[in-house]
Amino acid sequence: MIEINKVSMLYQGGKIHALEEMSLQLKAGEFLFLVGPSGAGKSTLIKLLFREQLPTKGEIYFEGKDILAYKKEDILAHRRSIGMVFQDYKLIKQKTVFENVAFALEILGFSPKEIQQKVPKALEKVGLGHKENAFPKELSGGEQQRVGIARAIVKDPVLILADEPTGNLDRDNALEVMKLFENINEEGTTIIIATHAWDLVDRMQKRVVALSSGKLERDERGGYTHE
Ligand code: ADP
Repeated sequence: MIEINKVSMLYQGGKIHALEEMSLQLKAGEFLFLVGPSGAGKSTLIKLLFREQLPTKGEIYFEGKDILAYKKEDILAHRRSIGMVFQDYKLIKQKTVFENVAFALEILGFSPKEIQQKVPKALEKVGLGHKENAFPKELSGGEQQRVGIARAIVKDPVLILADEPTGNLDRDNALEVMKLFENINEEGTTIIIATHAWDLVDRMQKRVVALSSGKLERDERGGYTHE
């Protein structure tokens, strides 16, 4: 599904090597943790996959298509097929839980009827069917992130990209969020999560790609992150 060939991303005229000749292949349906210290290049990789940035060098194929050659329309279609989840949730404070999730569909042009069907289903999946009318400030951090996940899955993405999704959560809520990603993955959605949460990564027993100074240091299945 994803093929990254020798991708380099340089900043500041080449002084900073955020990624250096990074290659990685991922099949549809995989669950991948991207780990590594701060500055290793995890967020850069996520931005490249979302086609938010263009690399300095290298190739990126997504479902066989060269996303670096995409024009504006193709970029929008590409982003529509991906659900993004953020560390700080990025919910709209003035909108209810229902409205936050519905908004993701409104901007994609879904009809009110489709929105009425899809939003409750997405909220059910994350266990927040009963909180439809709450505002973000009335929710715990874990619940807010579950709204963030509902907003990502409501558009039936083929891929979910999550950058430090448990970074603001305590351990119990973080584990619950990871389990939710696991359920979503079991229904067929490919998932890539950049994270610092070593203990959770070890517990989840998934594929782990470790980056270090922009290079792929380790790529292992079964989840252990330490030597
Ligand atoms: P991580 O997500 O693993 O913490 P990042 O991908 O954010 O790593 O960053 C990789 C390197 O690239 C770091 O040295 C960071 O400071 C640098 N970097 C990231 N984005 C930019 C940018 N827009 N301009 C300059 N340097 C950047």
